Amino acid sequence: MAQLVLFAGKDRSLARRHPWIFAAAVERLNGRARPGDTVDVVAANGRPLARAAWSPESKIRARVWTFDPDEIVDDVFFKRRIQAAVERRQAVPELATQDGLRLIHGESDGLPGLIADRYGDTIVVQLTATGPEKWRRAIIGALQRASACARIYERSDSDVRRLEGLDPVTGWVLGEAPAEPLTIVENGVRMRVDVVAGHKTGFYLDQRDNRLLTRELAAGRATLNCFCYTGGFSLQAVAGGAVSVLSIDSSAPALATAVDNLALNRQLDAHRAEWRQADVFDELRVLKSSGQRFDLIILDPPKFAPSAAHAERAARAYRDINVFGFRLLNPGGLLMTYSCSGSIRSEHFQQIVADAALDAGRGARILRRLAAPSDHPVALNFGEGEYLKGLLCQVD
Ligand code: SAH
Repeated sequence: MAQLVLFAGKDRSLARRHPWIFAAAVERLNGRARPGDTVDVVAANGRPLARAAWSPESKIRARVWTFDPDEIVDDVFFKRRIQAAVERRQAVPELATQDGLRLIHGESDGLPGLIADRYGDTIVVQLTATGPEKWRRAIIGALQRASACARIYERSDSDVRRLEGLDPVTGWVLGEAPAEPLTIVENGVRMRVDVVAGHKTGFYLDQRDNRLLTRELAAGRATLNCFCYTGGFSLQAVAGGAVSVLSIDSSAPALATAVDNLALNRQLDAHRAEWRQADVFDELRVLKSSGQRFDLIILDPPKFAPSAAHAERAARAYRDINVFGFRLLNPGGLLMTYSCSGSIRSEHFQQIVADAALDAGRGARILRRLAAPSDHPVALNFGEGEYLKGLLCQVD
């Protein structure tokens, strides 16, 4: 096995069990390794530290599989880790009964670069780094065994793969496309999941709890849902008794699915929902000048900052939409505002939202801090795992 030697003093983050080894920490590689191969990580003085997956093209030059320098990384290793992640979720009653559930959440489940989401009896797997790419067969086999699912679809097409020098890979790796469109039930509402062409693995499972909160808050409120995708928040708002729900997204296919989703749920009053294809940045200004006002506004934009380099521009975009969110609220109105950019930490996001309220001339307070549900855990050694953060604010 090749040996990855760190510069003196560059083993501190490893001692704290942070799983990423950046290029600047690497002094040299003794021996040869291909992308994804397991390497022994040693300190400058030769002390063994960990075993990691080698990724020569990425700034994250290696990702730690195990902090036990003697643990063997083989098929059985993946079987064990994957089984453990699935069992942790089975042990939580509110997760065990979910139709749509994240089974593997990368670093925070001890499996850097691996995502697996379950939708009914279909699993969508996403390999985002060279390590999981090398162990694809073992991973897929272990997922099948641990979950007893009928089908597995691979969605390894996220942009981050390019940073690893990996091409996109998609397709059915177990079973084949189901005859009927895939549908899950989330908080009592039926939702279509397009695992082939939808965003991420097909659905934003990370907002499940926050969509439920929307349902609890919506009664009697005129609601605006910006960046609605397939209508997850919108349908929960209708279910919760919102008097009206205006939903905006720029994607025609997402809106078409949203309309289908509403039709799938006959118990919901479809007349309360209106769908609008538009750019949210433009439409918020149109709504403001037309004098329309709301009692509940949801802002769940895409990741404006894909990396730390984009953080400043992203901050301006977050501020812009939040200024309009505050301006469009009736007195006592509620703003649910989110950022899923890992490089914008929660204190920074709160500052952006505070600045936006100031710009809008509205007094407001935080009623609740919002995050992803517990099938998207955040390992204590991996702050980057806390990518989704939100604030529920109430204006004066
Ligand atoms: N809230 C959704 C997920 C939102 S994902 C849910 O609970 O499922 C972000 C959405 O923003 C995507 O559907 C994307 O099509 C849309 N989007 C991205 N940029 C946009 C823009 N400038 N204007 C309107 N919609 C946009």
